[in-house]
Amino acid sequence: MTFIDSGKKHLVTHIQHFSVNDGPGIRTTVFLKGCPLNCAWCHNPENIHTYQEFFYYEEKCVKCGACAENCPEKAIIPPRIRYKEDIAQIVRFGGGDGSIPTNLQHNLPNTTALSDEKEIEAIDPPRIDREKCTSCMTCVDVCHHEALNFVSTLKSVEEIFEEVLKDDLFFKSSGGGFTVSGGEPLMHPDMTLSLVKRAKKEGLNTVLDTCGFANWNTTRPILEHVDLIMLDIKSLDDQKHKKWTGVSNRLILENARKMAETGIKMRLRLPIIHSVNFWDLQYPKDIVKFARTLGKNIIGIDLLPFHNFASKKCGNLGRKGYFDNFPNIFREEIEDYRKIISDGGTWQTTIGGLIGVS
Ligand code: SF4
Ligand code: SF4
Repeated sequence: MTFIDSGKKHLVTHIQHFSVNDGPGIRTTVFLKGCPLNCAWCHNPENIHTYQEFFYYEEKCVKCGACAENCPEKAIIPPRIRYKEDIAQIVRFGGGDGSIPTNLQHNLPNTTALSDEKEIEAIDPPRIDREKCTSCMTCVDVCHHEALNFVSTLKSVEEIFEEVLKDDLFFKSSGGGFTVSGGEPLMHPDMTLSLVKRAKKEGLNTVLDTCGFANWNTTRPILEHVDLIMLDIKSLDDQKHKKWTGVSNRLILENARKMAETGIKMRLRLPIIHSVNFWDLQYPKDIVKFARTLGKNIIGIDLLPFHNFASKKCGNLGRKGYFDNFPNIFREEIEDYRKIISDGGTWQTTIGGLIGVS
């Protein structure tokens, strides 16, 4: 497995312009790759691992076989022709140069294949064995059809801010600014510290979007340059937390208290997920009790109902998500949660997070 994290540059999966729910106003959010949690419902599964990965888009694949021909680990099963009346016959092909082989250039329904005048039933796409894959990325380099794409790009602080500062005018007119997110930015303290310092040097409002699972000694210096902490609370029940995220919540709840003591404004962000905390009205009551212990710095609590948009990304990464086939949870279904939390304190309560308000 190739790890690419030099301290000077970091793998960035996305820089999102015009974001309206990653803090107040219009913001530019940078997503750093790598997270210590592995939430079963993760909306950004490409951000979990710290190493480079690739997406495979079957709809763009012309089944030329170049990826399989060039994979040094033989981790890609090449495209295969299946013939009608003889599904056992498989023809392996692929020129290795990214071109569509001559015998497939008539890749149309009801086409008669060259071999034995048999009719082609289907051409199966390449199949990638991600267990065997060593992330060498040769396949991505040789695919000329954009069917294989890097998940992230190695970027320096300067390169990131070249992008961020394009939106400076919008920040000023909306009360917005810069948000660092992930993955988990506190898992990469050097990069995150450099980013928030740079944002402050530019006079930007700065938001840290975090799951809170981090070493306090490296977190504290970062917070000196942060205007708002958006802290995810996945579950207050430690057993459930371990089951659904892979880690205990103890460090997170401890850090929540330490963050509150700094005096920095905080918003708590609560994913509402099937089987975890949906249809459980004790959960919002427990959240109110917990939020009260953190004091007056809690200015907002945002309910984030489950949305199924990660399932396609999981497929493109060759993974299966636990909640792939689960339905979205609608705002109306957690209105009771919103009311209980809203009535429990002076904080602003939303479903879906801030919508571009400052
Ligand atoms: S090289 Fe690209 S287009 Fe060709 S088979 Fe592989 S993924 Fe598909
Ligand atoms: S990234 Fe994985 S699948 Fe692609 S060529 Fe390298 S080992 Fe093979």
